[in-house]
Amino acid sequence: MNALPDALRFPYEKAPAPGEVTKVADGLLWACLPLPFRLNHVNVWLLENEDGWTVIDTGCVTPQIKKCWEKLLADPMRGEPVRTLIATHGHVDHIGLAGWLVDRFGSEFVGTFGEWVWARLSHTRDVPGSNTEHHRFMRGHGFDDAGAELMLTSRHRFIDMSSTIPGAITEIRDGEIIRFGRRDWRVIVTRGHAFEHASFYCERDNILIAGDHLLPKITPVIAVYEMLPHADPLGDYLDSFAQFADIPEDVLVLPSHGRPYYGVHTRIRQLQEHHTERLDATITHLRKPQHALALSKTMFPHVEGPENVGFALGEVLAHINYLVHDGVVGAVSDEHGHVIYESLA
Ligand SMILES: [Zn+2]
Repeated sequence: MNALPDALRFPYEKAPAPGEVTKVADGLLWACLPLPFRLNHVNVWLLENEDGWTVIDTGCVTPQIKKCWEKLLADPMRGEPVRTLIATHGHVDHIGLAGWLVDRFGSEFVGTFGEWVWARLSHTRDVPGSNTEHHRFMRGHGFDDAGAELMLTSRHRFIDMSSTIPGAITEIRDGEIIRFGRRDWRVIVTRGHAFEHASFYCERDNILIAGDHLLPKITPVIAVYEMLPHADPLGDYLDSFAQFADIPEDVLVLPSHGRPYYGVHTRIRQLQEHHTERLDATITHLRKPQHALALSKTMFPHVEGPENVGFALGEVLAHINYLVHDGVVGAVSDEHGHVIYESLA
């Protein structure tokens, strides 16, 4: 690759205030919703059509976010209907109000099949088998019974921040061209942060709606969860960068968290470097055999609260599974039923 600039460029100084918008292109508005997590905001994109609006992502169910939507719907959107609602992926901060908006406007709900099914399973309490598997997973990776229960309770808090996921979807697939907001967009479906995350690239206007896949400041959570304990999401994520190879460096990237930026390939290189460093650190720490929870406390020493502990564990397991797939790390069970990992190199 040719020499890339070292830094990203941010064309906007700050995000729009809650309930307000910033125009980023003709008929394409940026709104920023407050989230009740350590990650305290999510961006949504409002695109004007001939007969109403296409909305990309929704935020989750909180009184503050619903208030923001009422303001957005009334003012910048002039009370015109949401004809189409598109979810980049099934995480609650992106899809949590989908049911609420779709019910209200009879909108067409658009997304990938995998994320829709995942969201319907994951944002429903007590799906048969799910709590038992979650408990088993947490116990195996180092939690005691009380700790595993606490993790389950914290997951329920997330579930309660989703309205009902719409019962039907218009499926989109990788490589398709779809039209919304008076533009044609190429659908780019990637694995890594989610199972079938959708980004949207408009070649004519050189805009990439990137969801959580290519965030400017933070690295997207790449994690292993109990539903697919042997998955290699980090391998999937690193492989996914090739899908952006033909997109110009000066594309305007619209991420779900943080500000719009220029420098997509610079950012991809930074993300690759970050994960290479974390993989090297994982190998080093696993010279001392240990379970994943112990390693996550070393790799994420400042993490607090069950939600963030869960993300840290999932991230550590993503790096471990990548190395296990590579044959660099081995796994054995100890007498407590914990999975103990060790570097083989
Ligand atoms: Zn996400």
